Amino acid sequence: MPERRLLSETVHGLVSQAMQVGSTVQPFTRGSCGKASRIRNAKVVHSVCPYCAVGCSLNVYVKDDRVIDIEGNPESPINHGTLCPKGSATFQYTVNPSRLMQVLYRAPYSDHWEVKSLDWAMEQIAQRVKQTRDETFVERLPDGREVNHTLGIASLGGATLDVEENYLIKKLFSGGLGIVSIENQARI
Ligand code: SF4
Repeated sequence: MPERRLLSETVHGLVSQAMQVGSTVQPFTRGSCGKASRIRNAKVVHSVCPYCAVGCSLNVYVKDDRVIDIEGNPESPINHGTLCPKGSATFQYTVNPSRLMQVLYRAPYSDHWEVKSLDWAMEQIAQRVKQTRDETFVERLPDGREVNHTLGIASLGGATLDVEENYLIKKLFSGGLGIVSIENQARI
């Protein structure tokens, strides 16, 4: 074999080997291999954005019984994994040191808040709704028309109420108690 051809084949073989080594060796250090996304091994719970009636789907990541992240669900036909700025902030709506976790009550003419139990608050609401309804319920108008309503209680809902909650509010307040003034902030 001529010397020039032998040299050419040797160089060609070395380059091939070098390229093979480059394509099979993992280009990460041990330190970077040990790193992982914080949602790795987290349980994924599907949920719905609480903010508006578009109903974007969420992936809620849970680890050790704690919510660690909330993102858009890419499998949703509604939002395909995307979220608007409000929906993107759902995590801080859920996990937030400023979030109130107990009932605070300020009595009429009082200048301070008192911590109360949830049972106490529910009982107060039930008693006051009952009393107000009893005092203001109208079966018939002066001209004899049957109305069975009360104008003494109103309900104003927020956009964080979902469809099921609004359904129950309308059914209980309107059909059950005869409340006329029922509104919701959501406008979609
Ligand atoms: S607030 Fe935004 S992310 Fe949430 S349901 Fe509405 S459009 Fe979707």
